[in-house]
Amino acid sequence: MSENTKNETTKPPFDAVAATLLTTELRETFASGKTRSYEWRASQLHALSRLVADHEKQIVDALRNDLDKPPLETVAYEVAMLKNSCNVALKELKNWMTPEKVKTSITTFPSSAEIVSEPLGVVLVISAWNYPFLLSLDPVIGAIAAGNAVVLKPSEISPATSSLLAKLLGEYMDNSSIRVVEGAVDETSALLQQKWDKIFYTGNGRVGRIVMAAAAKHLTPVVLELGGKSPVVVDSNINLKVAARRIIAGKWGGNNGQACVSPDYIITTKDYAPKLVDALKSELEKFYGKNPLESKDISRIVNSNHFARLIKLLDDDKVSGKIVYGGEKDESKLRISPTILLDVPRDSLIMSEEIFGPLLPILVVDKLEESFDVINTWPKPLAAYIFTSNKKLKEQFVMTVSAGGLVVNDTTVHLAVHTLPFGGVGESGLGAYHGKFSFDAFSHKKSVLYRGFFGDAAIRYPPYTNTKMRLLKALIGGGIIGVIRALFGSS
Ligand code: NAD
Repeated sequence: MSENTKNETTKPPFDAVAATLLTTELRETFASGKTRSYEWRASQLHALSRLVADHEKQIVDALRNDLDKPPLETVAYEVAMLKNSCNVALKELKNWMTPEKVKTSITTFPSSAEIVSEPLGVVLVISAWNYPFLLSLDPVIGAIAAGNAVVLKPSEISPATSSLLAKLLGEYMDNSSIRVVEGAVDETSALLQQKWDKIFYTGNGRVGRIVMAAAAKHLTPVVLELGGKSPVVVDSNINLKVAARRIIAGKWGGNNGQACVSPDYIITTKDYAPKLVDALKSELEKFYGKNPLESKDISRIVNSNHFARLIKLLDDDKVSGKIVYGGEKDESKLRISPTILLDVPRDSLIMSEEIFGPLLPILVVDKLEESFDVINTWPKPLAAYIFTSNKKLKEQFVMTVSAGGLVVNDTTVHLAVHTLPFGGVGESGLGAYHGKFSFDAFSHKKSVLYRGFFGDAAIRYPPYTNTKMRLLKALIGGGIIGVIRALFGSS
């Protein structure tokens, strides 16, 4: 019997009772005030940073198991990004925690005011399988920095990473306030029955709706980090080789298309499309060789359900004959080669859902300006990209395309900029994180107004005389000058 099976048979089920016990325990810790101090937050962020640094090899191995993810991608997009998030949080924590002084108004004169960031309480992070280390721990960094107790529920679809997270967080973190619950729908449902102070969910919109409905029962706020069909508009006045490489890096170099900000489809002009296809083919061959199914530099499809879903998109009659590159598959290894489809109809199956895999349809238009209207016929995506040297087109793109985030002349890299909020809009999500936005996502911004006993204006108290009414109107209309006029009768 394997170690895992042994554990599964001996472990009691994580049900509603266990979930209640867990949240009760964490609530007690939070109520003790332990997680509020700067020292606790900093110590836990240091511990998390050590956890990542000490276990790079295990993290790489777990992701090899779960997705056959190339080590370089794991180190660049999971390990390095987490280290950076910890460093930013540790460097900025004191600033973030410092109350922000703000101006007051004449109505409360004399007074001073500040915004105090306070922890929300006990929060739940539910994460997805595609960047399972990063997507689990990055929100946890925000939750800790903001002084919360936190439960993490990693994805069961990346089981090696899930169990590594449970083991390492158990060893490195303060378990009276930071815990991992492994499991699938039953376990997540048990957790969702509890009252949380925030739920941070990463995954698809169908489950996002389940999470939001569960949260609504307790008026719990949510962050929903969802996905969508992220378009790439390609103009003809560009450095085509660089553009092709950056599209490939964002699509196939980003977990083989299994990334929330992965380029989902391209829009270009009918005239330019063949040139673009040639450039993509040529760079793809340089990166992955003549037989990409054998390449060690590209992740596999996560499981057979997703493999079957992707094959169904290719089997649609509406795209028959449209494959201009790739299309090879090996079901036993869960591999589909990088595949480009040209002149794909907008009503095809592949254009009806987020692809989340190595298939890249190209839509063609007569004039590039039409592409913005085409994009806007679908729900708002998590990201949108444009390659162009045309200043006017860039401005038009920024003003007319609504998406979680935009990048001009590259793909996906905006998520490495911690000064930019990362999150969706509409169907692609609700709320944002990264850098200070992570701290804010897990904080309540408490307004505090300070007053003394001097200057107790009689105007607010009865009897409500005509003079008081005149004064009030003067205040509303003319500020302090108006008040002086009303008081002293000057015109
Ligand atoms: P997934 O299957 O791992 O599910 C996400 C989480 O939801 C898991 O922890 C899972 O256990 C839980 N879950 C699944 N079914 C549930 C149910 N019925 N009730 C309660 N919980 C349930 O991941 P996924 O949804 O396949 O992830 C892919 C999607 O996530 C894509 O749409 C992608 O774009 C999006 N995504 C978004 C981001 C982002 O940062 N915005 C990042 C990664 C992925």
